[in-house]
Amino acid sequence: MLKVDFDACIVNGKKDVAVEHRELQYSEHDVVIKVECGGICGSDIHYYHEGRAGLSVIKHPLVIGHEFVGRIFHAPAGSELKVGQKVAVNPSQPCLQCEYCYAGKQNECQNMRFMGSAQFTPHVHGGFAQYVVVSEKQCITYDERVAANIMALAEPTAVVIHALNVAGSVVGKKVLVIGAGPIGALAIAAVRASGASEIVACDLSERCRRIAIEMGADAAVDPRTQNSMAEYYDNRGYFDVTLEASGAEAAIESSILATRPGGVVVQIGMGKSPVNLPVAQMLVKELSWKGSFRFIDEFTTAVKWLEKGIIDPRPIISSTYQYNKIEDALIAASDKNISSKVLVTF
Ligand SMILES: [Zn+2]
Ligand SMILES: [Zn+2]
Repeated sequence: MLKVDFDACIVNGKKDVAVEHRELQYSEHDVVIKVECGGICGSDIHYYHEGRAGLSVIKHPLVIGHEFVGRIFHAPAGSELKVGQKVAVNPSQPCLQCEYCYAGKQNECQNMRFMGSAQFTPHVHGGFAQYVVVSEKQCITYDERVAANIMALAEPTAVVIHALNVAGSVVGKKVLVIGAGPIGALAIAAVRASGASEIVACDLSERCRRIAIEMGADAAVDPRTQNSMAEYYDNRGYFDVTLEASGAEAAIESSILATRPGGVVVQIGMGKSPVNLPVAQMLVKELSWKGSFRFIDEFTTAVKWLEKGIIDPRPIISSTYQYNKIEDALIAASDKNISSKVLVTF
């Protein structure tokens, strides 16, 4: 056995996060990543504040973080991976043996081992640690010249590219993106890169609306301003495609009202359930309403897009913390008035 000492960011339960010193044991056959940078996601924030994220409850200490990049620290002999190489790590580990995996719907895998998740016990540790063991197929190498803090956005970028694949082509379409947090903002850039003719963003926060414009929206509206959405509701809706990335009940209703007959609404934002849906509107307009969950093979596409600058995520990066300030980072990330994506360096 080989060994390396490392620090990890561990959530033990509600409001209980600590940096702990540990020893990583690994074998000649393991791939070990020296983590450089990670992004804080909603689930990390929920684990910290509530000791749970949805139905996943922390039952034992969990290394958080599923958005991270690093360099190869150790690779098995004969591997394509070389020590020192930059890699984005796909946190998704589908079983590849269940009926969903066989059908190419690995995001619905019944035995998914998603990193940094308390869904199963024992939990699957995440990547907010100085060193982490992953499998070779989770590692997507990327250009040495691309900064780690750009590539740290690969996972949420994969989420939005998947949502676009769920939506279908947006070429020449009018697209509404509701919610311009990290996911909505990346969705705007992805929609722009994919050839939409008009993109309107909608968010309560002035800061997020500004970011939406920077990411490529033609307009950004405050839904509380009188009549700001009304023109889009007229004549049974305006948009061909609506991406709902907020999860807020009022926004979900808005997504139905603003979409024209025959249009598509894709739900990306995970909000509180149940919500009231204007079913009559959905029916008479023959809307397609689709859920979008995580991603399948879009992770590799996301790495390519970030590598080539097809989308530039920099406007959403609001601050960067050293890993030993993880609690400050989580608190900052929870404050939607000041933060979009908060990064952590290792
Ligand atoms: Zn994420
Ligand atoms: Zn499976």
